[in-house]
Amino acid sequence: MPAAARSRTPTLKITHGERVIDPASGLTKLDLARYYAEVAPWILPHLEDRPAYVRRAPEGLGGTVFFQEHPENTGLRGTDPALWPGHEPAFAFDSPGDLVAAAQLGVVEIHTWNSTAGAILLPDRMIFDLDPGDGVPWGLLREAALLVRALLDELGLASWLKTTGGKGLHVAVPLRPEEDYPATNAFSRAVVQHMARTIPRRFVAKSGARNRVGRIFIDFLRNGQSQSTCEALSARARPGLGVAMPVGWDELPQLTGSAHWTIATAVEHLRRQRADPWAGYWTSRQRLRPAMQTLGVRP
Ligand code: ATP
Ligand code: MN
Ligand code: MN
Repeated sequence: MPAAARSRTPTLKITHGERVIDPASGLTKLDLARYYAEVAPWILPHLEDRPAYVRRAPEGLGGTVFFQEHPENTGLRGTDPALWPGHEPAFAFDSPGDLVAAAQLGVVEIHTWNSTAGAILLPDRMIFDLDPGDGVPWGLLREAALLVRALLDELGLASWLKTTGGKGLHVAVPLRPEEDYPATNAFSRAVVQHMARTIPRRFVAKSGARNRVGRIFIDFLRNGQSQSTCEALSARARPGLGVAMPVGWDELPQLTGSAHWTIATAVEHLRRQRADPWAGYWTSRQRLRPAMQTLGVRP
């Protein structure tokens, strides 16, 4: 837990807390704010120093839901303008108070970059976003995640799994921040094209709903500069208010779907966990360059 998270206790200053934001579950704005206050010790390590974007639903899921990249006029904290000169700051979250203030403004989802303030142009992780097309059963998606993991293993890269709180799964690969965005993006594209070439019945490397009926699109575009992916432990602005949950690969067979946990159940799950399934993620220092060479991707 970052020091900032320990030293500040969040105060819940929530207006319209009783407002039902998700008619499907009856969960309220106060439930969301409480979720972010309670999940702070688990989510803040993921958010530390990382530019973030948000998805807001100020009137609940029945009202306007919008994606926002810059905190101007919200009163929420932004990244240091010096980080990326010539560009508007992204959102920055480093305390429970930041999270609760966001919930007060109807922020439901928190999405982040693949790089941090320490090296803003050098990604320290790569994300494979598995998106099932229409008609893909959950069992096939689980198997697809294992196949992606197996190829990455073959390339010498350990990977970690998270639910998205939505329909698909995310496979995360922590990296030393050494290669730039174009190289990392090219590598992830090569991985996905390899999967689509070798198992074309299951995978597509091209986006578009038409291309992926019955198949799984592995979205590598999350790995480009200034792209974002829904962060671990973010809530989702979808019916049920699912949560993106880091899980161990051994937990995959028991998952009933990607919205297995919601803001109503996630914190209890985390408190009961004997060990962090992503323990190795935090200490991994793996390098992309050898895997790039194996796959024939030039820096
Ligand atoms: P699912 O498992 O249901 O696919 P997901 O989070 O992977 O959930 P996607 O639709 O695959 O959802 O989106 C992938 C990522 O694209 C999002 O997590 C988000 O960071 C980014 N994204 C989505 N909408 C926008 C937007 N309007 N502007 C910028 N980036 C967006
Ligand atoms: Mn997805
Ligand atoms: Mn996607």
